[in-house]
Amino acid sequence: MQTLYREVILDHAQKPRNFGPLANATHAAEGINPLCGDKLHLYVYVSDDRIENVSFEGSGCAISMASASLLTETLSQVSVREAADLVHAVTARLTQDESAPTTLVDLSRLRALDGVRQHPSRVKCATLAWKALQAALDQSPTTATTE
Ligand code: ZN
Repeated sequence: MQTLYREVILDHAQKPRNFGPLANATHAAEGINPLCGDKLHLYVYVSDDRIENVSFEGSGCAISMASASLLTETLSQVSVREAADLVHAVTARLTQDESAPTTLVDLSRLRALDGVRQHPSRVKCATLAWKALQAALDQSPTTATTE
């Protein structure tokens, strides 16, 4: 199973889904993980309180790029409220926080990221895109950072 998940990560890192700016984005945020040098820009198009489209661009390690790519696939057609719960659920899952809230969104494709739990230094690479998403939805003017 470990091998399978590694392949999912590499596949998403090499061929990131929804990569590039979103012309009609209603929300956007930048995320930086100074520990690893990962940088990304996340774009979200929200209509009627639903996330219609998410894209990202940036550069960094395979885990940070794969996590962002998986995020864009997971978040399409999710309500803004559900997305906030999802950010909480995913970051809790990656940091093994037992208080993780439940979410109705299917997280199965994110299982590929579970391996980072064994590597605490990589957890921030995996959570970066999710922190950027939160900043975008909060319309926070600051840059999201993992530090
Ligand atoms: Zn990284």
